Amino acid sequence: MLTAGVDTGSLAAKAVIFDSEVGTVVGSACLATGADPAAAGMRALQMALEDAEVSIARIAATVATGYGRGVLPTADWRVTEITCAARGAHLLDAGVRTVIDIGGQDSKVIHLDGDGFPADFALNDRCAAGTGRFLEVMAGALGVQVEALGELALSAAGPAPITRTCTVFAESEVIGLLAQGRTAAEVAAGLCRAAALRVAQLVAALRAEPRFMLIGGVAQNEAIRHELARVLETELVTPAQPQLVVATGAAVVAAERVDPRWSPTK
Ligand code: ADP
Repeated sequence: MLTAGVDTGSLAAKAVIFDSEVGTVVGSACLATGADPAAAGMRALQMALEDAEVSIARIAATVATGYGRGVLPTADWRVTEITCAARGAHLLDAGVRTVIDIGGQDSKVIHLDGDGFPADFALNDRCAAGTGRFLEVMAGALGVQVEALGELALSAAGPAPITRTCTVFAESEVIGLLAQGRTAAEVAAGLCRAAALRVAQLVAALRAEPRFMLIGGVAQNEAIRHELARVLETELVTPAQPQLVVATGAAVVAAERVDPRWSPTK
């Protein structure tokens, strides 16, 4: 059976086509959400179908998730990102008990039970610190793309001290540090450390236990992965495509609802 998962996030719309017979994603897409989340979600779904080389008629069901889940016209069900993140992580690694999801405008820590369902979660959606948006604004201040920030940070001899995590004040601090002669790499390292510390505070707020999995677009930043593992003193599993885990979980939920006898770990 083929199912679709569409995760329309604050910054990026992701879609996957999932084959429940083999338990893998067979097509995917990711694009900017922009100002029209319904259109972005539908475009991501269409692109994922093209990537999988299948027509919509072959899709048994579609689950929409993400902040734009309410507006996806063709969704059969709408499910929270918390549940979808848990189901996606469980599909990829049934030993995971804590999922850390760093997205565009929020970060979440989800504690999973032994069956891969959310038991508890902590959410930061009040402040951009420790989110993709914070890193995007700071990358802009350093004159680099956000995709290059991690590599730049890892090239530094050490991190410059970033004392402010409020995006507006941190941007002024970055400009000040550069004016004092700190290199862009040192400032990038300081920013990644500050963002990781912020996420670690959220982890500490929850009864987090290993194994940890890091997901969301920001999980592609290798300096964040490194800093977070260091402050949490644990290994972090990072899947090959961390930004697609929530959409994958949505497609898993779709398969479970169509066929309640099907299980992602059998
Ligand atoms: P949302 O679901 O809230 O839209 P995502 O989980 O899709 O968020 O993550 C979006 C964020 O991921 C962006 O803010 C950006 O900072 C970050 N990001 C995307 N691609 C990369 C990359 N290649 N390297 C580092 N960060 C990235």
